[in-house]
Amino acid sequence: MDTREDDETARCDWCGIAVPDDGWVGLEVQRPVDVPGREDGWVDYAGGFFCSQEHAALWLAKPLPPPEPPTVLKEERVDWILLATTAVALVAAGLACVGLWTIVQWVVR
Ligand SMILES: [Zn+2]
Repeated sequence: MDTREDDETARCDWCGIAVPDDGWVGLEVQRPVDVPGREDGWVDYAGGFFCSQEHAALWLAKPLPPPEPPTVLKEERVDWILLATTAVALVAAGLACVGLWTIVQWVVR
């Protein structure tokens, strides 16, 4: 048996059997999560793929898994990258203006 094909085969999140490409049921649950220090909170997603509507209903009837921790630090890192990129772009634009002004002065003289 080809194990690579097994890795790519979707499996029911309730019973674990292989789910055919044309016979699966997808379920997604969104729920708000309070995050200390964030007024807008966080939305957590949970869900899975199932072999039948019955197994999706059995999964949904159980308590949902605990929400994944919010990636607040990741967003802060993106903010710093955006700020640094903007600063570099402004410095480059300023140097280009100085260079253009120097060329204009050199041509005029
Ligand atoms: Zn199933």
